[in-house]
Amino acid sequence: MNIHEYQAKALLRAAGAPVAEGRAVLRAEEAKAAAGQLDGPIWVVKAQIHAGGRGKGRFIEADAGEKGGVRIARSVEEAEMEARRMLGRTLVTKQTGEAGKTVNRIYIEEGSEIARELYVALLLDRASARIAFVVSQDGGMDIEEVAHATPERVLTLTVDPVTGYQPFHGRRIAYALGLTGAQVKQCVALMGTLYRLFVERDMEMLEINPLVVTAAGNLLCLDAKMGFDNNALWRQPEIAALRDESEEDPKELAASKFDLNYIALDGEIGCMVNGAGLAMATMDIIKLYGAEPANFLDVGGGATKEKVTEAFKIITSDPNVKGILVNIFGGIMRCDIIAEGIIAAVREVGLKVPLVVRLEGTNVDLGKRIIADSGLNVIAADDLDDAAAKIVKAVRG
Ligand code: GDP
Ligand code: MN
Repeated sequence: MNIHEYQAKALLRAAGAPVAEGRAVLRAEEAKAAAGQLDGPIWVVKAQIHAGGRGKGRFIEADAGEKGGVRIARSVEEAEMEARRMLGRTLVTKQTGEAGKTVNRIYIEEGSEIARELYVALLLDRASARIAFVVSQDGGMDIEEVAHATPERVLTLTVDPVTGYQPFHGRRIAYALGLTGAQVKQCVALMGTLYRLFVERDMEMLEINPLVVTAAGNLLCLDAKMGFDNNALWRQPEIAALRDESEEDPKELAASKFDLNYIALDGEIGCMVNGAGLAMATMDIIKLYGAEPANFLDVGGGATKEKVTEAFKIITSDPNVKGILVNIFGGIMRCDIIAEGIIAAVREVGLKVPLVVRLEGTNVDLGKRIIADSGLNVIAADDLDDAAAKIVKAVRG
């Protein structure tokens, strides 16, 4: 689960990290008063969406020369005007995809004078099974681009969980970032705070881009992005309360309510599969046959008729889906239950695209017979290869 910048900054502030004063607003009418509670002479008005790249993003139907989602205001009136201009509109950035995201919240912050923009992130490095700091002097811009073009300008430092964070980690990071004097001490303290927050709050990702050196020579977290481990949210009620469902893919949200393991993708073949491994293999073989999967979906081992129906609804609600491939290996799950679920789902939600079904395992003959006797226009497949060939042919001709 991700949270907004202003929420992440509140967590940072409470933990003692340096962040500017700011106020979040939901309506433009609140913006002037919010800015009035902050010190000028410059305010930064920032669109709050769960995606980065806002500064360089563009609004749909933007006027010529119009700024992106991070704007400078020189008076409280201007702050209100910028908030009004952004609220309710759709912002497209490198991370939102073509459709963009609607701006429903605005964060107004005291403006800072920037001397240098740095990059700091913490993430889980699964290869070393440790938390890793990833830092670079080239903050503010596209870090993927920096890592690609000049990998030597990115330092990765992992922390042994037995010792935890130690001041020498912070000093190494400070030197890599080219910090001097009092900044080194600030860096050692800040990195310790970030590490502690990361562990205490069950984060998967914490990114400060940019971490700036201000004109006065102090470190300041100018942007903040946090992602949390969904499996730990039960013990993080304060974090779970920060969830903004309007930022999530409605299909993924519906799936999570029915305990379905669903991830939306941008291809044209909807997949319904049991087991994460089989789901991955199914996506692979669709690609092998030259098409693209529209989703990852693992209905799980104990899929009921209701769950299968819900999965079907979610898949068919995606306008990009031009065909559906059901690939079930009946182990604990019996193929006849799955067949009945599929038929019930199709009867309920209708079927406007080709459907290929491959069943294997317990009660497979009964399952196949139920589908054959249903009178539905279902293409039966014998194995994974056959199934992929048939659905791709049905969709692409
Ligand atoms: P992002 O584009 O979504 O990553 O949004 P950021 O919060 O990182 O802001 C983008 C850029 O706006 C930063 O890299 C800064 O260059 C600039 N910016 C943000 N806040 C301030 C500020 O207080 N003062 C100044 N001068 N620039 C700012
Ligand atoms: Mn940023």
